[in-house]
Amino acid sequence: MAPTTHAAVGAAIAHLCPRLGIAVPIAFASHFLLDSIFHFEAFFPLSQLLGTTHDEAFWFMGLVMAVILVPAMAWIGRKNHEVRIMALYCFASSAALLIDGPLFRLAAMFCLTVGAWSLIRTPNVVLWLAAAFAATSPDVLKDLHKPFDRFHSFMHYEGADDLGYWLTRLFSLPEPDWFGARATKWPYLTGYAVEIAVETALMLGGLWLLTKRARGAPPTSTAKPT
Ligand SMILES: [Zn+2]
Repeated sequence: MAPTTHAAVGAAIAHLCPRLGIAVPIAFASHFLLDSIFHFEAFFPLSQLLGTTHDEAFWFMGLVMAVILVPAMAWIGRKNHEVRIMALYCFASSAALLIDGPLFRLAAMFCLTVGAWSLIRTPNVVLWLAAAFAATSPDVLKDLHKPFDRFHSFMHYEGADDLGYWLTRLFSLPEPDWFGARATKWPYLTGYAVEIAVETALMLGGLWLLTKRARGAPPTSTAKPT
C-alpha cells in the first residue's frame, strides 16, 4: 500500500498499544499484512484508459488522491496539532519513498522523522513517529537485501490477480484481450474503486483514531476533547 497508509496505520497501532517495545514490532509486521490486501497499483491499465504513459498515469493518480486526501487529513487534524503533524508526516513519507536507492530513502525518512520530532516532542508523537517509521521501513529497505525483498514480494498480493480479476471470474465474464484493456471493463473498474476505498479508509481511519484519547495514554497537548 501507499507509504502514507502504512505510516498512518503504524501510528494508530502505537496509539492503541502505547508501549514502544510492543508497538514498533507490530507496526513493522502490519506492513506485510496491509501489502497482502488488494490495493490499487494498476497504473498500466489506467494509462491505457487515459492514453498516457505509465508514469503520467501514476502522477495523475497521485495528484487526484492528494487533492482528495489533503483536505480530509486537514479536517481530521483540525483540532489537534499532534495529529496535524502526523498527517503531514504520513503524507510526506509517500514523497520520501519515491526516491531511488534504499540509503537515500532511509536518509530522507530519517530527516523527515527527526524534522517532525523537532516540531513537536510530546510522548504521543514520539511513539507514533517510531511506529510509523517502523511500518514504512520495509519499503524504505527495498533493494537492500534480496531474501528480505523476496519475503516482501511473497507477502504482497498478486498484482495481476487484482480484485477485478476475481470479479470477472465470479461473474464468468470473458477476460479482456490484453492487460491494458482491463481499465475499460466494469469488473476491473469496480475492483479498483473498492481497492482505493479500502486503502483510503485505512489511511484516514488510522489518522482519525489518533484524535481519540487512548486508554492510559497521556492527554494530547493541544487537543480539545472530541
Ligand atoms: Zn510494501
